[in-house]
Amino acid sequence: MKSYRKELWFNIPTRRGFINITHQVEEALRESGIKEGLVLVNAMHITASVFINDNESGLHHDFDVWLEKLAPHEPVSQYRHNNGEDNADAHLKRQVMGREVIVAITNGRLDFGPWEQIFYGEFDGRRKKRALIKIIGE
Ligand code: ZN
Repeated sequence: MKSYRKELWFNIPTRRGFINITHQVEEALRESGIKEGLVLVNAMHITASVFINDNESGLHHDFDVWLEKLAPHEPVSQYRHNNGEDNADAHLKRQVMGREVIVAITNGRLDFGPWEQIFYGEFDGRRKKRALIKIIGE
């Protein structure tokens, strides 16, 4: 069995944002040379997510509005975690959107369902953060 590891780094200039990382995961898969196996992609921070959904800007706007309704950033004083920090909402948003995805690799390609793409979701940006790609198989 082969294994391959790669980190993707981000520095999103805003507090929140979504980045399509599908091409970077496909590039890592090519670099790995693995044709059959699994790829795991996870956020390495507890205020960011990796998730799979549609690459459609209206939907991304809807996610942002929905998450902000579920866990509004302001007022920061509403959260007990914000005791010297202001990112409680980012922890809650990450919990809803998830930590990681696993995708099957078949014939050297990501074996997606229709319209599936992989995204990094940032909820407390404006600093360097990263996601892990781990690929295993043969
Ligand atoms: Zn925190």
